[in-house]
Amino acid sequence: MTKKVTVLGSTGSIGTQSLDVIRAQEYSVFGLAAHSNVELLLRQVQEFHPHCIAVVDDAAADRAARELHGMPGAPVLLRGKEGLEELAAMDGSDIVLNAVVGIAGLAATLSAIKSGRDVALANKESLVTGGSLVTDAVRENNVKLLPVDSEHSAIFQCLQDEYSAKSLQKILLTASGGPFFGRTRQELQNVTKDDALRHPNWSMGSKITIDSATLMNKGLELIEAVWLFGLPAEQVQVVVQRQSIIHSMVQFSDNSILAQLGVPDMRIPIQYALTGLAPCAANGANEEAVRLFLEGRIPFLKIGELVEGVVDSEAFGGPYTLDDVYACDAAARAYVLAHVS
Ligand code: NDP
Ligand code: MG
Repeated sequence: MTKKVTVLGSTGSIGTQSLDVIRAQEYSVFGLAAHSNVELLLRQVQEFHPHCIAVVDDAAADRAARELHGMPGAPVLLRGKEGLEELAAMDGSDIVLNAVVGIAGLAATLSAIKSGRDVALANKESLVTGGSLVTDAVRENNVKLLPVDSEHSAIFQCLQDEYSAKSLQKILLTASGGPFFGRTRQELQNVTKDDALRHPNWSMGSKITIDSATLMNKGLELIEAVWLFGLPAEQVQVVVQRQSIIHSMVQFSDNSILAQLGVPDMRIPIQYALTGLAPCAANGANEEAVRLFLEGRIPFLKIGELVEGVVDSEAFGGPYTLDDVYACDAAARAYVLAHVS
């Protein structure tokens, strides 16, 4: 029986590459979801014939409904954030690949896991903002959480046998350093959107490309690694590997190192608390600040200043619920907007 896959964020960089893999493997597509790129989504519908699609943006969902009207074998159309969650939970797919960008992916990740679906996770923001909610749900529902982020996939691959996993001592998370590696703060003062979007090694969505230029991406990935592999942050070391050949490495208790080679990403040392909601606040502030930078409303260096400002502005701690995550995310975004003239 062929594997049935649901791809959330199918119109993005990871989403379209996932469909390349699905095409090559001759898997079938159960569901597809996008925010507003209806044109591409409908081309994907025509090629992959999913059972169901979700369109998050309201006006785009109206457009999709008009286009699907009368189409023979048209998929079920779900709308809005609720539609995305409903699709993620739907019976019929073997695995949900979450390639949505930003915190918008969190609820769908939880929804898929809670309905007993295995999740292939590109949306690192799910773990950064709601780490314990996601890992608890994985445990309670006994599903698989498979990392898609290249570094985490490399680490995961290095830990496939039980003996290795047990004697894991350290993760060496590789980073290319991004387009601005080696530049001083002074030299970064007036970098433009185009400069920051010109990543040396990868063609990715604009948000993660900016995260790579600020090195926030490696901070998010450090937190992601902590949640995925259960090591404290001190045992995850970011290593710059400019050639982008080593994807990541793991070190065992006998000090031997296993590496996985491939084409990589960047780095950042975010070391704040892994309990509580500081990573969620940093993530919300970062999403908002990257948007403002891409709109030409703040300079490049302001992104880091705003994220730092949010994290320093409050004490975070204690267990949290999904509502707390959203409240924290909203407060961080409000902070950014209030600090931009
Ligand atoms: P893109 O911006 O290329 O694609 C984002 C996708 O998410 C699109 O399908 C978009 O739909 C959809 N989307 C946007 N906003 C929402 C929303 N509010 N609700 C539902 N769907 C939404 O991003 P990438 O593919 O680059 O990144 C996706 C995730 O994968 C991120 O978490 C990123 O960190 C991670 N990742 C990406 C890598 C890469 O190489 N690109 C590498 C490692 C991790 P639409 O097109 O309609 O707007
Ligand atoms: Mg990565």
